[in-house]
Amino acid sequence: MSLFVQKFGGTSVASVERIENIAARIIRSRNAGHDVVVVVSAMGDETDRLVSLANEVNYDGLDARRELDVLLSTGEQATIALLAMTLLKHGVKAESVLGWQASILTDSEHSKARILEIDETVLQAKISDGIVPVVAGFQGIDQKGHVTTLGRGGSDTTAVALAAVLKADECQIYTDVEGVFTTDPRVVEGARCLKQMTFEEMLELASLGSRVLHTRAVEFASKYQVPLRVLSSFEEKPGTLITKEDDSMEQPIISGIAFTRDEAKLTILGVKDVPGIASAILGPISDANIEVDMIVQNVAADMSTDFTFTVRRDDYDQAKQILENIAKNIDAREVSGDNKIAKLSLVGVGMRSHAGVASRMFKVLADESINIQMISTSEIKISVVLAEKYLELAARALHSAFELSEEVN
Ligand code: ASP
Ligand code: MG
Repeated sequence: MSLFVQKFGGTSVASVERIENIAARIIRSRNAGHDVVVVVSAMGDETDRLVSLANEVNYDGLDARRELDVLLSTGEQATIALLAMTLLKHGVKAESVLGWQASILTDSEHSKARILEIDETVLQAKISDGIVPVVAGFQGIDQKGHVTTLGRGGSDTTAVALAAVLKADECQIYTDVEGVFTTDPRVVEGARCLKQMTFEEMLELASLGSRVLHTRAVEFASKYQVPLRVLSSFEEKPGTLITKEDDSMEQPIISGIAFTRDEAKLTILGVKDVPGIASAILGPISDANIEVDMIVQNVAADMSTDFTFTVRRDDYDQAKQILENIAKNIDAREVSGDNKIAKLSLVGVGMRSHAGVASRMFKVLADESINIQMISTSEIKISVVLAEKYLELAARALHSAFELSEEVN
């Protein structure tokens, strides 16, 4: 008998009516002969609502993270009870299970706790008794018995962790999208739902802003080799299967194009090419908790060089101010910046075995007269920075040049 862990997100459980729908789905899986463990999120925007209630209390300066976790964990508690009741109504033996009842032990970092250990025997006993455990996502308990939460979007991680310890055949993440697409379908008309991809590709796409899955959940799945499937809770379709790379997989060179508009670029010109300069520039930026993404330092001509890096657009003004101060301290010539840029990346494990992807990409952009401002590469990714106004054009041109609309896998 195969075992599926099925996770349903906030939109999928937003009302009692939708809960009925997913109960029907769970029952279909059971009738097809699978054991099922269910993990759910809070209903709709419930977590946001709870966060804003807490903000109304105005506990400024007070460390209330313990209580915030107790509050936020109630969202999932309501869903598990409602879903278990619905399943019972249809004659399915179901039981709601809170994080602590499932022995999901975490560290004590409230609001971003990490799972340390799960005693799988609790759920295993229920499964052998023919019970469908309905587990609250996003929550656990620490060594001292305090309720913890795993960070926003953390129910995915709960599901993957349970799938790992229960050695489930698949961890299925039901969402409001059909699966993982080759690129954003709102921008590129021919964007297609991928049948299959690797964990590595998903991690690159997730960190680049394709917010389908919680990044930590993908890391977890990759580490414990839990096959992950993203699929729609509204339509009966196979979705996207995310697994480890395997030789039998028909590998397209490029799997997807990710992009983000949330970028800004800063350059400090005329800095001396001496040891310690990169650290003198980026130290104060990171001290201000500003995350730096791409970094480029030019080759020095006449002992002086330019240094460029990108930050999130929200951080641009602050970063620029810091950089202007640094420029004075290290005697640099000038600071310049641009907050109307975007980053676009081609991602695909097939790049490892195919040369020439980068030059093909650059040619496509050149043919569209799009200027590339910065480039960075990794084994399975090529990223470029370009003016934001060309982003959509670039995405469409590349999607068609690399034939991503065609069915390959
Ligand atoms: N309910 C939590 C949130 O909204 C956890 C989750 O949905 O995964 O972030
Ligand atoms: Mg969610």
